[in-house]
Amino acid sequence: MTAFAWGSDSDIGAVRANNQDRCFTDGEMFAVADGMGGHNGGEIAAGLAVEALARREGVTTLDALVGLVHAANDTIIERGRSDPSLRGMGTTLCVLADVAASAATDPATGDDRVLGVANVGDSRLYVLDGEQLTQLTEDHSLVEALVRDGCISREEAARHPQRNIVTRALGIDDKVLVDAWELRVVSGDRYLLCSDGLFNELSSARIVQLLRTVDEPGAAATALVTAARDAGGHDNITAVVVDVFGDGSDPRDHRPGEAGEVVDDRVLVVRRAIPEIDDTHETRSSEATPDPGPPGPSPGVAGATEPATAPAARFTRRRLGLIVAAVLVVVVLVLTVASAYARSPYYVGGAGAEVVVFQGRPDGTLWIRPNVEEPVNLGLAELSPDDLELVRRGVRFDGLEQARAFGVELALRSRTG
Ligand code: MN
Repeated sequence: MTAFAWGSDSDIGAVRANNQDRCFTDGEMFAVADGMGGHNGGEIAAGLAVEALARREGVTTLDALVGLVHAANDTIIERGRSDPSLRGMGTTLCVLADVAASAATDPATGDDRVLGVANVGDSRLYVLDGEQLTQLTEDHSLVEALVRDGCISREEAARHPQRNIVTRALGIDDKVLVDAWELRVVSGDRYLLCSDGLFNELSSARIVQLLRTVDEPGAAATALVTAARDAGGHDNITAVVVDVFGDGSDPRDHRPGEAGEVVDDRVLVVRRAIPEIDDTHETRSSEATPDPGPPGPSPGVAGATEPATAPAARFTRRRLGLIVAAVLVVVVLVLTVASAYARSPYYVGGAGAEVVVFQGRPDGTLWIRPNVEEPVNLGLAELSPDDLELVRRGVRFDGLEQARAFGVELALRSRTG
């Protein structure tokens, strides 16, 4: 078993009426859940997610970890169905756990224990190796799609009015898509799991500085949370800091001086869930020809799950060797099969002069016509220029509830100015 030292902290922040973040730590598994939904729904959804982790029986592999996330999703959906006041509640979930290496991990490396990671939503996992902080997970959020699409910068994303909108969450759909990784156990690595209330307030440089200067994990988590609250605290803030001992030696003996190329060697297996494999190709071709084209829904935002330009994907592609390349071939095959089962996603776009929720893909080039699922009761003329641009491109969601919620938010914004 891998040995860890860990600590966590969570704070309501300076603005919100309640704390809908939850975290979980038990020495083998570490998690952050960021709940959303009114009538205490967010707290309940996040609480159910971490309770599902606590109740687990023998999660020993990455597959089992992903299965556990699916089980948490089922529990939250069931609860939402049994209580109408909780309808639409959801939560992110980002989990790090000590698991056995899978067959996909190269036996030649001799790694029999690995760190399993599963992620849904926009909470994040980072690793600090020496001086280098690397984000391992990919955010499932609207702003991440906009950044990836070149519409806004990383800095704008942290202040964007829609930065809280996630495109994937637990509690929304029976078939939740879970991204997963196996990471090499390296003594001296320091992991950070956190909710968006942390990384939207603090620069990467500030996060690195605090992680490097505060030795004790719990104190480091508190220092991060306190700094984020002092920086504005616009959202609930949660941080879990996990130091890896690996062979049982003190990680601080290993920490400095191993920065650089070593970090990429952490990623042994990547399983990124993608709802529609076709979108990958569309977005790639649209990147090759950056002409925005005629008005109307474009495939740009539709590539919300496009992995090619995501930080984590760049990070894995840059220097991963043939072993992982072979794994990726398998991943693509698996995803191709999975895509056949993938439910059609939803998007909010324009039809005539109206804002409408569509089922299908905002695809202006193929004969696959999206169905109008329901009108939002909002005219395009009522939108601000920024929102109009979003809607014309088509804002995609994995679930109908999220698309509806976005429509409601658009309407509220247009009516409150
Ligand atoms: Mn949050």
